Amino acid sequence: MSVGTELLLGEITDTNAQYISARLREIGVSVYRRETLGDNRSRLTGAFREALGRASLVIATGGLGPTDDDVTAECLAAALGLPLEFHEGAWEDMLEWYRVRGRTPSPGDRKQAMIIGGGIPFRNKVGTAPGQAILTGGKLACVLPGPPREMIPMFEEHLVPLIQSTFTDLVPLYIKNLKLTGIPEVKVGEMIRDLMDSANPTVAPYAGRGEIRIRIAAGSEDLAEARKMVAQVADEVKSRLRDYIYGEDDDTLESAVGEIMSRRGLSIATAESVTGGLVAHRLTNVPGSSRYFKMGMVAYSPAIKATCLGVPDEAIWKDEAVNEETAVSMASGVRTLAGAKIGLATTGFAGPTGGTEKEPVGTVYVAVSDEDGTEVERFIYTGSRRDVKEYGAGRALYVLWRRLKRSRRKPQGSKEGSGQ
Ligand code: AMP
Ligand code: MG
Repeated sequence: MSVGTELLLGEITDTNAQYISARLREIGVSVYRRETLGDNRSRLTGAFREALGRASLVIATGGLGPTDDDVTAECLAAALGLPLEFHEGAWEDMLEWYRVRGRTPSPGDRKQAMIIGGGIPFRNKVGTAPGQAILTGGKLACVLPGPPREMIPMFEEHLVPLIQSTFTDLVPLYIKNLKLTGIPEVKVGEMIRDLMDSANPTVAPYAGRGEIRIRIAAGSEDLAEARKMVAQVADEVKSRLRDYIYGEDDDTLESAVGEIMSRRGLSIATAESVTGGLVAHRLTNVPGSSRYFKMGMVAYSPAIKATCLGVPDEAIWKDEAVNEETAVSMASGVRTLAGAKIGLATTGFAGPTGGTEKEPVGTVYVAVSDEDGTEVERFIYTGSRRDVKEYGAGRALYVLWRRLKRSRRKPQGSKEGSGQ
């Protein structure tokens, strides 16, 4: 149950329900119903009563704050016919939360320490409102905070173990995701169509921004068996799509390139125009990236491209510095400037206005430079300014990844030419 009048008004997207549904499926809970309710005592109490009448597990998020319109816990208590009681432990946790931040609670906060009689408070590491759960008559009911950054850690750390220890006959799904880039979704579909017909494990591709995830999931009471089923299919997918798979599960394109650069003792510097620092942002999102990331420069003006990176005048004045030569000079220029092994650069038109006849809005050049030379590619994207920036940054990381993979395969001593 997603609780909050703002959800009913369409003001925010209900990401909690989506997250919880997906995770419940993974741990083996069948989800039969989802509903959205406003912060209203009688409707919420009625909804809890009905839900407890038909399901063995009821989870609600939202409406746990200190204000008067936060009524979720009291409605669950009313539906169960149980009292709300002040819980010393939950209150102590809240005091500690404030103490660590050098702040003091207000009297209204005491309300958040009211826990259903016989219930278990869930400590909130991120915010003040504790969650809570109560096991009664073989049914587990629980309420979690609305903000996803509070809800998710609480769900994972407190509720998942409680569900698993309460309902011991769950058949979990074992899931592996293969992450791909540099290949269109339809092509992936064609290459694994026969595998997608299977019911257990299931195989399904999901397209993201310039990236694709293939989800392989198997259900079995025996986890080792499920793992084996998934591994077999994963091996088959890998043998068909090897050139495009950069990682699995939590891997990102930036962590994949980071891992390769770390391992080979490489270093990188970026010079970005159209992507405005997004490439550097993504590269530095990886813990330990300081080992290989030397510098990132947002070279937006023509003068900076010329003076700091040595882009020649002809290139600067041609199509407002959106051209192959500019990208190449930026990549090799920043590589030299930083004394890095690799230089990566972007230039293009993010729009929505601008562009030239030859280089329309959406054009992005990506260049990558290393000791073997520089390669450059041109792409054209459609979408908003932000879309073009994000696709462009993703493409830059892809071009880098591809270059790193190719240079690994290259026989020792051979040299690639410049450009392509
Ligand atoms: P709460 O005070 O617990 O009712 O929730 C406070 C904030 O959490 C809301 O203003 C939303 O920004 C966020 N929130 C609540 N419910 C959801 C939900 N189902 N999905 C995503 N965000 C939510
Ligand atoms: Mg609310």
